[in-house]
Amino acid sequence: MDSTFDRFSTLFSTFIGGGRTYLLAKGRVALYLALRGLDVGRGRKVILPGYTCVVVPGAVKAAGVELVYVDVDARTFNISPEHLEAISPRDVGAIVVQHTYGIPADMTRIGAWACRYDIPIIEDCCHAFGSGLDGRMLGTFGNAAFFSGQWSKPFSTGLGGMLLVSDSGLIEKVERIIAAEVRAPSLIRQWRLRAQILAFRAAVTPSRLQRITTAYRALSRWGLVVGSSETRELEGDTPSQYVTGMAPCQAREGIRQMRGVQRLIANRRVVAREYSRRLPELGFRAVTLEPGEDPVLLRYPVRVGNKRELLEAARQRGLWLGSWFESPLHPAESNLGAFGYRPGTCSVGEQAAREVVNLPCDPGVDERHIDAVLRFLRERAIPA
Ligand SMILES: *Cc1c(COP(=O)(O)O)cnc(C)c1O
Repeated sequence: MDSTFDRFSTLFSTFIGGGRTYLLAKGRVALYLALRGLDVGRGRKVILPGYTCVVVPGAVKAAGVELVYVDVDARTFNISPEHLEAISPRDVGAIVVQHTYGIPADMTRIGAWACRYDIPIIEDCCHAFGSGLDGRMLGTFGNAAFFSGQWSKPFSTGLGGMLLVSDSGLIEKVERIIAAEVRAPSLIRQWRLRAQILAFRAAVTPSRLQRITTAYRALSRWGLVVGSSETRELEGDTPSQYVTGMAPCQAREGIRQMRGVQRLIANRRVVAREYSRRLPELGFRAVTLEPGEDPVLLRYPVRVGNKRELLEAARQRGLWLGSWFESPLHPAESNLGAFGYRPGTCSVGEQAAREVVNLPCDPGVDERHIDAVLRFLRERAIPA
């Protein structure tokens, strides 16, 4: 049993480029443990991008810390260095740097700011598995990084989270906290996770994914499967049994996925290149890159002027168009106030939430899917 965990965590650390990997129930739990390991607790603040998934501020809240949102950059959808440099570093215990859609954040400027005030960086790599910057992989720039193993993420362990720690002092602290606090998932949970992994492997193809996701969400609301979030998490509560480890079946799935990882990444690159080539011909803005940025995109962001109608039309047609993020703290139903977000704080993030839909880059997306998605955009979307 232990050797399965060891094998997966070694494969993972080696792939990203060093450090140690800890295996948890979810990405958010990895963030929570990183904050605990860094001794970021009550009386401190954590900086987050104002364009993220609500479970990220949820993990920060679970650590008892105050939240400070910094607006994002309109090109990268990541924390804007200009806005960051305008923030007071007082009482800031850590900064969470998210690499949205897989596009690298500006680690040179953000790193310089953090270094000047001796503030640790935690990279949110949940979208950015395999992305590089200046010849290094994302996840190696901060003191720690976390990855998500959810179905919808680039690397799936059938839910699950990976915490990668590079800093040796932090490794020791995190190990102590994990040994004392992280519980193994119950046997019932393990059986369910295993059944879900097998069901997904058998059922999922890009064209079916929309329907499967809808069914999965419904089953999860009824408590019939292990879901990704509980309703109360959107309200600002920490669910019970939050600090749980990964199940052996998930680590085995992780090992299995690591075998095909180069192909997975190569496929994402091909799909994204195709979108980048063809979107401008249709009047849409492509993702633009600066020298040194080498993203592996999880989903391809496109700004449109009719997001809501477009998503509804896509749903009716069974097309796989994504809505991340629908609000500065996704999803739209989140109680922003409970997470300390005041509307208007991050106007670039809010505009992105109104405009951005995302196109699939997942394995299995081929020329035919790309054609269908682009034809749909040409017919129905208004460029923004
Ligand atoms: C999905 C996601 C997370 C959370 O991952 P979980 O494994 O669901 O906890 C964190 N950050 C971002 C940007 C995400 O998209």
